[in-house]
Order: sequence, then C-alpha cells, then structure tokens
Amino acid sequence: MKKISIVFNALIISVLCFGQKYPAPMKAEMTEIWDPEVKIITPGEQPGMAPSDAIILFDGTDINNEWTDSIGNPSGWKIEDGALVCVRGTGEIRTKRKFNDFQLHIEWRTPAEAKGTNQDRGNSGVFLQRLYEVQVLDNYNNRTYRNGQAGSIYKQYVPLVNACRKPGEWQTYDIIYTAPRFATDTTVYFTPPRVTVIHNGVLIQNNVSLRGPTLYEGIPEYSVRKHGAGSLMLQDHDHPVAYRNIWIREL
Ligand code: MG
Repeated sequence: MKKISIVFNALIISVLCFGQKYPAPMKAEMTEIWDPEVKIITPGEQPGMAPSDAIILFDGTDINNEWTDSIGNPSGWKIEDGALVCVRGTGEIRTKRKFNDFQLHIEWRTPAEAKGTNQDRGNSGVFLQRLYEVQVLDNYNNRTYRNGQAGSIYKQYVPLVNACRKPGEWQTYDIIYTAPRFATDTTVYFTPPRVTVIHNGVLIQNNVSLRGPTLYEGIPEYSVRKHGAGSLMLQDHDHPVAYRNIWIREL
C-alpha cells in the first residue's frame, strides 16, 4: 500500500511540474569563491607559540610597553626569570591597547608552595575588556565554590571539568572572546559577550553567553552600560601568580 502511495505522489508531482522552466543544474565551479584570497599567516612553530599576525603582549622582557597599572602609571608587578609576577598590593595591570573580538593565549602559574584554601590560594584572574573575569586559581586538590574555581567565568559559568595542573607548574588558557553588540537606542545588550576557554588543551567553556560584568556580590545583569573596546586586565588578588607568553589576535 505504501509503495503504491509513493508511486502515486511521484506521478502527481511530475504532472504538476510538467512544462515549468527550471534553471539548468549548477556546475560545481559556480559555488567556488576564489577572491579575495584568504590572508596568509605563519602559524607558531609549536602549539601555544604566537602566529605571525599576533600582537605580543608579554615576551618575558618588558612590561611597560604594553601594560600599565589601573590609572595609567608604570606597573608595580615584577619580571622574574621571564615571567610577569603579581606583586601584592600594587593592583591590577591592564593593556594600553583596547580590544573587541579576539583570540588570546596566556600562560599562568600559581605558587609552588600551596598556601591557603578555597579562594585564598593562587588567586588572580584574566579580565576580558576589563569587565569579565576568567578565574585564575590553584584548584589542584583545593575545593572552592564551583562557579568560582579556575576556568570559571567568575560566578556565572562553571568550567566543564577541572583541568588544573599542580601548583608551580605552567598552565595555559586559550580564550576566544566575542564582544557584546549593543542596541543603538538602549543600554541593553543586543547580543551578549561570548566566551570559549581551553585550559591546558581541554575545552572548559563552550561559547557561553555572559549575563553582565563580573560581580563579587550580587547578580550580573544584561542591562549594562554600553561599552566599546576594552583592555585586557590581570588581577592582583594578593597572591604572587605569574604569567608568561601572552599574545592576542584581533578578530
Ligand atoms: Mg580572581
């Protein structure tokens, strides 16, 4: 019965279509796009090394070129063995440049001597556009609230897994950030910021949509003041967390 019905339907369609003009079938070449040619860059020699189109934000030698403290003065953070180390009480550091959408590579290390518990252990943070924190914390054998651990979008998104290495070991974040788009006539997000985080090669945040700037107290809101491009900011949370090999690609 089913077979008969299929044959019947095919017959009806053939009758309906008879005599109508259809475009000639497309050739494969007609859907190929050649120009302009995709920009050619040179990838890094190893994973984690900067490709040729990256802006090097820290190469182990100088911080004053690209970074300042929170009010634009030279930063109090120090360079030790090619690493940029947070000095307690000197405050955040931020890039002089401002960014919208980007791919960021950053390596971080919490102190080898694991002192303190919960949030009081190897705490720092990578703030995207100075507003949205990807948490840096020593969570190797150290529990804390799940939406505040390493790789969380602080108090908004729990990392998919805990991929922390031991304290004192270098770790990587590869972060893909899409800045918010705002409606032209209001302060409400048209599309919220979105973040993907890969921690030590493991996907831990998969294109999550943020609810608003990071807050320690309270609930982040979508309804935020419209903002444009913003600096990258590294947090001084009283612990000598170190950073190295920081590069960014504007998208
Ligand atoms: Mg932090």
